[in-house]
Amino acid sequence: MMTESARSALLNALGEHVAFDAPMTRQTSLRIGGPADALATPTSRPELAAVLAACQAHGLRHTVVGAGFNCLVADEGIDGVVISLKKFRGLEERPGPSIYAEAGISHSAITRFCLDRAFSGMEFAAGIPGTVGGWIMMNAGIGVRELKDVTLEIGIVTPGEPAEKRIPRERLDFHYRELRGLPAGAVVVSARFAVEASSRDAIKGEVDRLLARRSATQPLDVPSCGSVFRNPEGDFAGRLIEAAGLRGLRVGGAEISRVHANFIANVGGASAADVLAVIERAQAGVREDCGVELKTEVHLLGRTP
Ligand SMILES: Cc1cc2nc3c(=O)[nH]c(=O)nc-3n(C[C@H](O)[C@H](O)[C@H](O)COP(=O)(O)OP(=O)(O)OC[C@H]3O[C@@H](n4cnc5c(N)ncnc54)[C@H](O)[C@@H]3O)c2cc1C
Repeated sequence: MMTESARSALLNALGEHVAFDAPMTRQTSLRIGGPADALATPTSRPELAAVLAACQAHGLRHTVVGAGFNCLVADEGIDGVVISLKKFRGLEERPGPSIYAEAGISHSAITRFCLDRAFSGMEFAAGIPGTVGGWIMMNAGIGVRELKDVTLEIGIVTPGEPAEKRIPRERLDFHYRELRGLPAGAVVVSARFAVEASSRDAIKGEVDRLLARRSATQPLDVPSCGSVFRNPEGDFAGRLIEAAGLRGLRVGGAEISRVHANFIANVGGASAADVLAVIERAQAGVREDCGVELKTEVHLLGRTP
């Protein structure tokens, strides 16, 4: 529950760029989730700093979302303030060559930008849906290449320190599908990526090849959050789920995809509870079948029932 003074502080900081009791179904690719107490969409660093200051002053928790392609939001919603950086849309060429992108820039905008300028290096990420902020926090990638391989530096803003701080790649602690060690409550506002001059045809050919492979192997026509489980060392979560005979397992509107067993699709009206039930049944089934403990890649956000 948000107090009147907290609401006023957020309205003072953001005016029309804050909404209260905001449905999270529109902020996540699974199209699931109860309301956030407040959804803040700052348009600048001073506005972002003001939101963080209001949260600190009123004891409100803040949660950042990118495009929500890797999030499962609880049916009960999210306490405090959800911050979306979708209005952070700077995208520029920098020396190196390199590209500077603000946190709200989407995967497709980066791909278009690189194609227009014939910059190679980011092709691997063309089909990884999301924003620069989510990419960095997830160290998103495919088998051969991850964000850590192209990131030169990131910019963050932290509660209590409104000026953007730059962190060079040497000090970024990337791991499989995570970036560790940022200060508590840090918000990624920008990143710079290394690219190199190449041939537009070669870049387009690689992007098209990777997108075609995705279309052939992933259920892209239904709401999902991509891979639900992290791949265990030396194996694939999807292979283990399939081997345990769980493909097609359904609870309510949530179903283990028949196209790719590491995806859970919202096939119609799924709740977060449905998805969580499928996750637990997949973990139990794989544990029983081969003794492997599957860990979730999807981030669970929000109130626990
Ligand atoms: C069809 C499909 C295919 C996918 N394929 C892949 C794949 O091949 N490889 C892969 O790695 N992933 C894949 N994913 C997962 C997803 O695309 C990535 O995890 C992506 O990085 C999510 O970006 P996002 O902006 O949507 O982040 P979100 O899902 O919004 O957020 C992810 C996490 O980052 C945090 N966060 C987001 N932005 C910020 C910020 N600015 N500052 C601080 N914290 C922040 C959030 O709180 C959350 O914990 C796939 C998903 C789908 C739906």
